[in-house]
Amino acid sequence: MPRPTSNRNLIVITKAYGAHAGDRPLELLNITRREPGPHDVQIDIAYCGVCHSDIHQVRAEWAGTLFPCVPGHEIVGRVSAVGSHVSAHVVGDLVGVGCIVDSCQHCEACDDGLENYCDQMVGTYNGPTADEPGHTLGGYAQSIVVHERYVLRIQHPEAQLAAVAPLLCAGITTWSPLRHWKVGPGHKVGVVGIGGLGHMGIKLARALGAHVVAFTTSESKRDAARELGAHEVVVSRNADEMAAHADSLDFILNTVAMPHDLDAFLVLLRRDGTMALVGAPASPHPSPQVFNLLMKRRSLAGSMIGGIPETQEMLDFCAEHGIVADIEMIRADEINAAYERMLKGDVKYRFVIDSATLA
Ligand code: NAP
Ligand code: ZN
Repeated sequence: MPRPTSNRNLIVITKAYGAHAGDRPLELLNITRREPGPHDVQIDIAYCGVCHSDIHQVRAEWAGTLFPCVPGHEIVGRVSAVGSHVSAHVVGDLVGVGCIVDSCQHCEACDDGLENYCDQMVGTYNGPTADEPGHTLGGYAQSIVVHERYVLRIQHPEAQLAAVAPLLCAGITTWSPLRHWKVGPGHKVGVVGIGGLGHMGIKLARALGAHVVAFTTSESKRDAARELGAHEVVVSRNADEMAAHADSLDFILNTVAMPHDLDAFLVLLRRDGTMALVGAPASPHPSPQVFNLLMKRRSLAGSMIGGIPETQEMLDFCAEHGIVADIEMIRADEINAAYERMLKGDVKYRFVIDSATLA
């Protein structure tokens, strides 16, 4: 259950973009935020990235969307107020908020810094909260109030702030499995789907020292994927190109947002290789052929975002290595058109909302 906020009646009104139903477009809304409690950080949002999960959720493609729904979990901005007990952040700091705004803080997952796997993890939007309207409202908004534990430090130069926003979901969702499966020098790694997540997967796997093979359905991304850092690019509709990589990959990060044939990629893994799914399509993939797993002791796995300490580790790594997302900035009122373009794979590689356009 969410921890009650002691001062939930004190509210701040902020403008936001959200939807009242899964079949309605997003529109300008007035929403409320709580006054910061003792452990809260209030953030003036500068930019918010647009994740494909936002589309799945706001269009009620996944179960359980609560309306009004204000998506957005790739949030960056500046601290505008802090509660009396906050020590890690001060007014004026550049900070980020990703997919998590609360968790139980005492279970095994939370103790391990893997709040993303806490049974009481509260998502940045659509999660249970004592605040109005009873579920969390995300970052397509002017401001947000978040418990200090879930607020990340940003060390990139301020000029890069908009391009840092997608690291808060696309970055950590690809970083966490790359680190968990210990991707590094000497590994041949596949990244499937060159969208928001996939383009970060290529950059991060490359920076970790792996040999990176990008798999795309889009011929038009062949050159672009190389520019992102892929050593090789395969157009997955081409059987000969796929066959050339049979039994050769140590690890595959699969970011595709739609159901597709997993066997086509499983057979590219070498003995003991793993394919981790991070794409979360609304309907299931066709079940993989078990013999494709048995024959070379291959594994099929999944991974969900990442914990707060590893998110900070990823942000610091990216600041040190000069890594940001490739973005296309949009006004808040362009969000519905941006969704349509994402569904066609027509974005290189992440839309980011300029929150100043909400004013
Ligand atoms: P995105 O920017 O829309 O990219 C998805 C990519 O998948 C497309 O660019 C496309 O790349 C590829 N694709 C291949 N076949 C496709 C098809 N039939 N329809 C659409 N795309 C196809 O999405 P994203 O923001 O990266 O998110 C990807 C998925 O990850 C979504 O399902 C999202 O909900 C999920 N997600 C999961 C987590 C987690 O914690 N596990 C976190 C964030 C997001 P090519 O053109 O290169 O083929
Ligand atoms: Zn996301």
